[in-house]
Amino acid sequence: MAIHPILIAPDPRLKIKSELVKEVNDDIRQLMDDMLETMYSAHGIGLAAPQIDVHKRIIVVDVVGKGEDPQPLCMANPEIIEVSDEDLPHDEGCLSLPEYFSEVIRPTSVRVRYLNYENKICELGADGILAVCIQHEIDHLDGILFVDHISSLKRNIILRKLTKSKKHEAIT
Ligand code: ZN
Repeated sequence: MAIHPILIAPDPRLKIKSELVKEVNDDIRQLMDDMLETMYSAHGIGLAAPQIDVHKRIIVVDVVGKGEDPQPLCMANPEIIEVSDEDLPHDEGCLSLPEYFSEVIRPTSVRVRYLNYENKICELGADGILAVCIQHEIDHLDGILFVDHISSLKRNIILRKLTKSKKHEAIT
């Protein structure tokens, strides 16, 4: 297993639309393992392959609280097939936008279809934080960041600050 560097916005590679996975084979499983390790080491609850510069439709998620047993979910080609009529605002953050949080409104619950770690077609109903996280990660596969759901004013402030901190890193 290996920890990969996470791309930080604004980075044009985060806007690339990811490609479908043909099948979940050993190479893809290795990638899923690496993504989980990268996510846990960054203390995230979800990670999408494009965040480590791999443009394949793969996400990993684990929303259990601290001190509980891990419950990793690995999904290839995840697709939302049902959404609730009800929407809820939720404060979202992102490993590619470190230290920024903003309220995003999304459907409260979703049903997702995907290929699992064993290359089997699965369906899962999710609500609460799991539903938020799955929708957030699937957005990454289409080059969408959570800040694309908020006002352009707020988005520009966040992206400008991140650009500044990146320049600072380059000097030091
Ligand atoms: Zn994210």
